[in-house]
Amino acid sequence: MPLSEHRMHQYMEVMGVQVWQSRNGQDAEAEQEVLSEDKKVPPGWQKLQSDVELCTACCLCETRTQTVFGVGHQKADWFIIGEAPGADEDRQGEPFIGKAGQLLNAMLLAIGLPRDQVYIANILKCRPPRNRDPASEEVASCEDYLKQQILLVQPKIILTVGRIAAQNLLKTEVPIGKMRGQDYTYGECNIPVVVTYHPAYLLRSPREKRKAWFDLQRAQSIFYG
Ligand code: URA
Repeated sequence: MPLSEHRMHQYMEVMGVQVWQSRNGQDAEAEQEVLSEDKKVPPGWQKLQSDVELCTACCLCETRTQTVFGVGHQKADWFIIGEAPGADEDRQGEPFIGKAGQLLNAMLLAIGLPRDQVYIANILKCRPPRNRDPASEEVASCEDYLKQQILLVQPKIILTVGRIAAQNLLKTEVPIGKMRGQDYTYGECNIPVVVTYHPAYLLRSPREKRKAWFDLQRAQSIFYG
């Protein structure tokens, strides 16, 4: 169902975006991205999900409550990548459901994307104790799962949120502030990657929401061409 203009403006306000009403009264409702029918989901989701559930490749399997596989539309055009599950996600088995997740939902809605229209996954499928940064061997053990998820979804654009997601996906140590606004691609299909801040960071530094809003608009213009 398309978002109403009023609703979209509410989400934009959460993002700290000043909303201007159009003067000519044209209907500014966001057009919902229609997922193309010809995008076939290859088999393999079930096997991948059970491989993740049973994974003991790194020590995080000893401290997790459960694995957090990923969630969303299996044929999504937009693939969102975060860092790792936090306490809420570890408890409930779904990425981005705590406070940062609520802001992520608002960010996506501000560009006309309800959460169930995108696919969301993390660099790590298990929570690092006390939410510490992922260790490089944990990232290495986990990266094939994310790679396979991206292959299955075949998104048209990837949005990384936060430094850990951007640096690990793109194999770089460039600081996130320098990565923002740069053109990156992922994989053999050269899927465009847009780098923005993590919603948890934006909750701590609300003045940076403006920059994240630019990133989202940039992603939109890359996507719509
Ligand atoms: N932060 C992340 O990066 N991912 C989650 O799933 C939750 C919080």
